[in-house]
Amino acid sequence: MIPFSWRGVFKETDGESKRRMDDSGKELFFIISAPSGTGKTTLLKKVIEELPGLQFSISYTTRPPRANEREGEDYHFITPSVFQMMVERDEFLEWAEVLGNLYGTAEKDVNALRSKGMDLILDIDIQGAKKVKEKVDSTVLIYILPPSLNDLQERLVKRGLDSPDIIQFRLAQARRDIEEAKWYHYLIVNERIEDTVEKLKAIIIAERCRRDKNPILDEKKKQWEENHGKNHC
Ligand code: 5GP
Repeated sequence: MIPFSWRGVFKETDGESKRRMDDSGKELFFIISAPSGTGKTTLLKKVIEELPGLQFSISYTTRPPRANEREGEDYHFITPSVFQMMVERDEFLEWAEVLGNLYGTAEKDVNALRSKGMDLILDIDIQGAKKVKEKVDSTVLIYILPPSLNDLQERLVKRGLDSPDIIQFRLAQARRDIEEAKWYHYLIVNERIEDTVEKLKAIIIAERCRRDKNPILDEKKKQWEENHGKNHC
């Protein structure tokens, strides 16, 4: 069965703020997008375990939980009316409809993590990635691609969560997404999960070095000028 669409029920722009987020802080927003079935959940868990200072932003969704999912760990599972209320109150940094379900990132959750000085990982689709990029300068966009559509189809069949119709829907969506992935900053082809984890960690570490470059240079300059001054007193 093809999923019911919320388009027309909720307008994409309903209550969606165009205001930019205050991103004067130094926290980075790593946005990871990938077709469903790419192995993203395992990947993100490993990277967060292995790299300190990184937190997963838990989204809100109207999709019912899957057997292995827990409230407040994988998602905040809410009803369409609660979701609508949050849209009306302008509580989402971004939200989108994916395969008939609604998904959103709450601004207050993101701010709470940033206030602890954490860099964020957001597992969101291309529509959401575009919106966050418009609002937050410190966004790093990373697209994870399956090795092939056949491989993706096999994974979707193997995980046994979707009907054949939905699998076809997801494959068609993946084909469309590949076109859009061009404007992401990084692309990783997920051949072996171990390699993908290392590549993702390398991107995060490199982006942190870039962010920290000027503050470190300023500090070193001050220190070295002080030391130089002392040596010549
Ligand atoms: P799933 O239902 O398989 O967990 O996720 C379906 C899709 O929704 C995935 O592409 C995932 O990245 C996306 N998604 C999850 N949370 C959010 C969110 O908060 N905002 C947006 N825009 N997409 C999300």
